[in-house]
Amino acid sequence: MLTDAPPRKANRAGFLESDQTRTLDLPQYGSLLTITKSIESAMRRGRSKDVRRTCAEFLDAASEFYKVPACGFRVLAARPLRVRERWTTELFGDYTPETMLIRIWMRTAVRKEVTSFGTFLSTLCHEFCHHLDYQKFGFHDSWHTRGFYERAAVLYHHARGTPPKKLFWVPTVGGRWRIDWPRTNRSGKTHAASV
Ligand SMILES: [Zn+2]
Repeated sequence: MLTDAPPRKANRAGFLESDQTRTLDLPQYGSLLTITKSIESAMRRGRSKDVRRTCAEFLDAASEFYKVPACGFRVLAARPLRVRERWTTELFGDYTPETMLIRIWMRTAVRKEVTSFGTFLSTLCHEFCHHLDYQKFGFHDSWHTRGFYERAAVLYHHARGTPPKKLFWVPTVGGRWRIDWPRTNRSGKTHAASV
């Protein structure tokens, strides 16, 4: 995971706010977890209609909790040829702010393998966080900041019922950051062992 470079002056305040907003309120009850279990079993049984239905349920429940308009949702069999140019790093899904539509594809672009449940759910949470950036936080753009990735991770771990990991970042060129996976994974293990 690599963050976007900070934008020029005009948008910098929003970018910094996104970067510093490191967490997200979460529903108190396990309603999302119940829905994600249905998504997982629909995927395991290869029932694309059920995958679509349960994902839509997930997004409706999450939108209701965050008090944002419901977003549209499509599951595609494979990655479309044309994806939003702005986010060329999106490997498994995309979000269009103008239409509030999330699209996720079931097969990877290169090897045409079926996306795993973990990747699928993480993509769903990632794209929904783009929706939140516009509709809840009111950002003019939805940058991939450290805060963005952390909010998406908080939502993902909540929805999957797994303990949240603290993410460690390393600066790279151009004001961008990447995740230090060895350190992040080490600390995740310590955390899991200590609770
Ligand atoms: Zn994204």
